[in-house]
Amino acid sequence: MLIMYAIKRELKLNNKEKSFMKGCAGFSRFVYNHGLSLLKATWDIAEISGSDSKRLDAIKKVFTNITKKQTEYLWTNKYSSRIYQNAFRDLKKAFSRWRDPKIKADLPRFKKKKHNCSFTVDSSNGKVLVKEGKKIKIPTLGSFRLKEGIPYNCVSQTFTISREAGKWYVSFAISACQIPEMKHSQKRVGIDLGIKTFATLSDGNILEAPSSLKKAKTKLEKMQWRNRNKVLGNRRSEILASKNAVKYYQKLRKKHKRITNIREDFLQKTTTLLAKTYQHILIEDLNIKGMMANHKLSNALSSLGLYRFRELLSYKQECFGFLLTIVDRWFPSSKTCSVCGNIQDMPLIERVYHCQNCGQVMDRDLNASINLEGWMNNADGLSVNACGQEGAVSLGGSRN
Ligand SMILES: [Zn+2]
Repeated sequence: MLIMYAIKRELKLNNKEKSFMKGCAGFSRFVYNHGLSLLKATWDIAEISGSDSKRLDAIKKVFTNITKKQTEYLWTNKYSSRIYQNAFRDLKKAFSRWRDPKIKADLPRFKKKKHNCSFTVDSSNGKVLVKEGKKIKIPTLGSFRLKEGIPYNCVSQTFTISREAGKWYVSFAISACQIPEMKHSQKRVGIDLGIKTFATLSDGNILEAPSSLKKAKTKLEKMQWRNRNKVLGNRRSEILASKNAVKYYQKLRKKHKRITNIREDFLQKTTTLLAKTYQHILIEDLNIKGMMANHKLSNALSSLGLYRFRELLSYKQECFGFLLTIVDRWFPSSKTCSVCGNIQDMPLIERVYHCQNCGQVMDRDLNASINLEGWMNNADGLSVNACGQEGAVSLGGSRN
């Protein structure tokens, strides 16, 4: 199975480049809306057979051969033709999603400048080389600088440029096989994901969530509290949003985006590090209900972050060639003594495991991670296979 891996990087653009990108996005939006309005004008809703695609092809032909040549639309010629090819492709996809009874997407709507600042280009000659480093050559657009470099040479065909919260990004997909394989040791490790520290490894190492994340979260909370009464107008009573409210919501989006970025960056880096270091990684299955009940978890990195962590680990095993084992959620990793196997109650407030049988004293999370590491010895592991899908999930502890 071919696993795709997406690379997304922030672009470092000067004002000229920014307005060029804006123009490209505008052109893409124009083409999309143009195609949509022509299709809607000639459109028979009763027709379920799905001839939108053929009709869109006809509309595209008219656009290429006639519309683009009219003086009114001459401006469209300064932009890459791959932009409008891809805009038509997007429109086709949107219609087939809408026709698909399984997906039940909404009927495609006109794109608005406010919400849709993105466009796609591709190379018409197949895949192109994307070189390692802090510069990217995007087909038909040119070379641009990147905030963070691309880690290795890879190839891709389609590139999407988008603006989110005032920043420009480029993203493209590569197949996971292209990610260079690292040689790692034969080490095996248990990881306890957690309450106080983000992750505790059975070899004593600790992964802490970055302090910048905590700072950003506190800032966001303060801002939300200070602006708790701000509303974006009211459509029903026709009250327009105030300028300050609009400003605030823009700021809010930026702050949320920043938190997402810090978290994603942290998770990507730590999972890569783990993938490079260990041959076999064992982590606990995540217990949704338990986490919801436990507000303290949000201090570390929110349940969302924990899921993403596991997701990243499970798809990086394909690229790095280690084995990931998801340990049965009923395995009492916190309650068991890692030395003698004694099981005792461990309320969440107790940070230290003090064994009542053999007397060992150990940090709670470290004890749990050591138990996770040793889990395969007494049970059949539920390991995630190469496709990233889980094998038979055993609930309720059917192990011997
Ligand atoms: Zn003990």
